[in-house]
Amino acid sequence: MEPMATQSELRVLVLAPLGRDAQLTVTALQEASISCCACRDIDELCAEIAGGAAAAIIAEEAFTDQRVSVLQDLLSGQPTWSDFPIIFLTSGAGSAIETRTTGEALALLGNVQLLERPTRVGTLLSVVRSALRARKRQYQNREYLREQERVELALRRSEAQLTFALEAAEFGAWDLELQTGRMWRSSQYDQIMGFAEAPADWTYLRFLEHVHPGDRARVNDAFERALAIGEPWTFECRVIRADGKERWIWVEGDVQRAGKKHNFISALRRRDDGQMQSGDLHPGGPRMIGLMRDITERKITEEILARRTEELARSNAELQDFAYISSHDLKEPLRGISNYARFLLDDEGDRLSEEGRERLRTLIRLSQRMYSLLDSLLDYSRVGRTRLKVEEIDMNAVVADVVDSMKGWLDEQDAKVSTSGSLPTIRCDRVRTGQVLTNLIANAVKYNTSDSKEVQIGSWIDEQGEAIVFVRDNGIGIPARHQQTIFKMFRRLHARDTFGGGTGAGLALVKRIIEHHGGRIWVESTPGTGSTFYFSFGECQPVMQASPSKDEIATR
Ligand code: ADP
Repeated sequence: MEPMATQSELRVLVLAPLGRDAQLTVTALQEASISCCACRDIDELCAEIAGGAAAAIIAEEAFTDQRVSVLQDLLSGQPTWSDFPIIFLTSGAGSAIETRTTGEALALLGNVQLLERPTRVGTLLSVVRSALRARKRQYQNREYLREQERVELALRRSEAQLTFALEAAEFGAWDLELQTGRMWRSSQYDQIMGFAEAPADWTYLRFLEHVHPGDRARVNDAFERALAIGEPWTFECRVIRADGKERWIWVEGDVQRAGKKHNFISALRRRDDGQMQSGDLHPGGPRMIGLMRDITERKITEEILARRTEELARSNAELQDFAYISSHDLKEPLRGISNYARFLLDDEGDRLSEEGRERLRTLIRLSQRMYSLLDSLLDYSRVGRTRLKVEEIDMNAVVADVVDSMKGWLDEQDAKVSTSGSLPTIRCDRVRTGQVLTNLIANAVKYNTSDSKEVQIGSWIDEQGEAIVFVRDNGIGIPARHQQTIFKMFRRLHARDTFGGGTGAGLALVKRIIEHHGGRIWVESTPGTGSTFYFSFGECQPVMQASPSKDEIATR
């Protein structure tokens, strides 16, 4: 790596106040392309060193006792990477460095090289160059240290983020040394296990002792399996905490074989000195690391939910049975009432006034209506009670059958049913699908005042791969505010006997059949123009793609 130094940090400072030494030295250095700077006294030298310099050449005569301590102080406060090189030019035979005080003063400056005068230029340059090399290596070390600091800082920051995330998510972290069974834990782990103070030694076996006796074998079996085949150790179990409380925990661990990438938990472990120290575990040995979480609240909610779902399913089934049994059983006496009213009208009608006879006819009509309402209810509740017979059904064949069975009535109504393109094969219940189409086609014709009543059936496969089937008519249409309510039981938008009459149960039955398949139905309509009913069977995916895209069939 190139030493990262500024221009001034590569300068050689020269302090030689007497004679021509300073000028000569500076000239020699400049001729050798070494950046340099002459200083007047020790104070100026110190200021330049503080601003950044590579080395200093100091002549003995500049080394006056009074100011030397300033330089000593400056150099003794150098950072660890720095050992500032000083080339000390002695005065030859008359040198004072032989005296004890000068010798000691020089020693306190640290990295000092003595050069005896008179000095040959070549010798000076060689000494200066070697001081420069040494200084550049120091700059290199400074760069390494700075890089290390940056890495440490980034590491500390990401550790802090990780700790924050784990604590916010209420996760406890652990690291298990498999050879010894000893385990490092985060403080959150100890809190989850109910410890007010971190236990000094925590092992796998101690953990197992806290697992509820009813779950212990299962937890240990899973642990051994994880070790044997390397699968993750994942489980939920009850624990008896250190404070005696029973709680549910979730644990997930993963075996880390030697040589596997350094993991985040070992990074966390380095910082957590309240717990087991990093040196206590063999960092290279096989380990299992993982997370733990208290899931008691979730378990309680799940239990409540399961109980409620069960209750709901039971009461739903009871309701279905009730609707089925009551509509089934009510039909019997109703038939009797209707029959007896008819007998009365036939046998005793002559003896009644016209008003009396009309009342009997109303009674018969009302019981017939009630009979068909009960029939619809029976049909509706049957959908929920019986299993669907789901198989691969060719929708082309179902439409053909339905149209065939309705042919007489369709001719009577002067209505035409056509299909646009080929329909897909769908996994569904054939009989129920026939019922859906019969109802939708019948409505398309019933609620239609056009001179030529047209019903178009088509389909497409949407982006999710779901087959959407549609039944389109040129009928009276449905106002937007009623487009949801028409699917409710016994909801009609018109007077009872208009548009061929009806119980208002047809679309409710259609919806129930489709939803029982896991599908959905909806309508798009413009009053006065017509309606399009769309349905899909959801989970019962199309078996083959045989439809045009929606754009192709969008045009009417
Ligand atoms: P019903 O036909 O017995 O009245 P449905 O449940 O089949 O009962 O339909 C509910 C109501 O939705 C109908 O009374 C009618 O007002 C409206 N409706 C259904 N299909 C159509 C349609 N294709 N065009 C216009 N209105 C419709």
